[in-house]
Amino acid sequence: MEKLILDASLEPLKNKTIAVIGYGNQGRVQATIMRENGLNVIIGNVRDKYYELARKEGFEVYEIDEAIKRADVGLLLIPDEVMKEVYEKKIHTVLETKKEFVLDFASGYNIAFGLIRPPRSVDVVMVAPRMVGEGIMDLHKQGKGYPVLLGVKQDASGKAWEYAKAIAKGIGAIPGGIAVRSSFEEEALLDLMSEHTWVPILFATIKACFDIAVKEYGVSPEAALLEFYASGELAEIARLIAEEGIFDQMVHHSTTSQYGTLTRMFKYYDNVKKIVEDEARYIWDGNFAKEWVLEQQAGYPVFYRLWELAKQSEMAKAEKELYKVLGRIKEEE
Ligand code: NDP
Repeated sequence: MEKLILDASLEPLKNKTIAVIGYGNQGRVQATIMRENGLNVIIGNVRDKYYELARKEGFEVYEIDEAIKRADVGLLLIPDEVMKEVYEKKIHTVLETKKEFVLDFASGYNIAFGLIRPPRSVDVVMVAPRMVGEGIMDLHKQGKGYPVLLGVKQDASGKAWEYAKAIAKGIGAIPGGIAVRSSFEEEALLDLMSEHTWVPILFATIKACFDIAVKEYGVSPEAALLEFYASGELAEIARLIAEEGIFDQMVHHSTTSQYGTLTRMFKYYDNVKKIVEDEARYIWDGNFAKEWVLEQQAGYPVFYRLWELAKQSEMAKAEKELYKVLGRIKEEE
């Protein structure tokens, strides 16, 4: 099968009932776009605000186990950290009664690290958007698609890739966007690599720049924040990187800026590469998945402590003051 898929047939999903489990960021937009594409979509959710929202928006809504019972295809679109428990309590035994079923994930995490193990009779596929829910809807309204990674973990029917491609089309990724043949493991690795390397390194660097500029060089917190991120220049650079390429977009910056960026990128590369190697190995060996399960079982002590530390930092306090002045947050927040 081709690596890059630009379009697919919806045929494998015709005459099937598709249960979207969860009506949050992804669930709501994926269900809405599939319905627009003429597919038969029902929603599975616990009885609370999302349940009511889905009903108000015209969907048939059921308890999660009931929705899976009624469906031929299930899209599991609830947070990764609750998925294992929900799957074990409400989904697994229903799947054991089915001769055929297509179970789709929007992220590789739970399957890649063996936290969820569906029955052998089930096709286990992944259609993982590289886009937040709101972004998907905005692009869809403009008639555009978006990128997704596809994976197949179990191909019980022999048609699992066809189902994955059809779901990518059903949820509006293709045509217009691009579906890349990948795997649960690849998706989980890439996702976590970003979360464990360049994102925290960027945050740590910005915080260090703020602390040093303000405390050691007497720069005003406002000037520092506006320079490092509050002006929106960072977002503009990210947009240019996506549209023109990471190096080609550099021509929009001065020669002084280009020289500084290139010299320091090569200077720091080896140190950063070592960090990335260590983090990638830790993820690939399943150690991060174990660490995160233990943290959840313990009631999130590290998570809450670090959140508190971050919120109490000088940078966060200065940001709050500046954002009040700029009208980005209200006085009482
Ligand atoms: P959300 O946090 O938006 O999911 C909310 C939905 O999950 C609601 O319907 C909520 O129901 C339900 N839910 C939450 N907790 C529970 C629980 N304990 N039991 C049952 N239902 C629960 O998730 P996302 O849409 O952000 O993520 C869904 C999947 O998509 C994940 O696999 C994620 O990795 C993937 N993904 C997400 C992206 C994004 O845009 N955020 C981007 C790409 C992939 P209620 O509150 O009513 O209980």
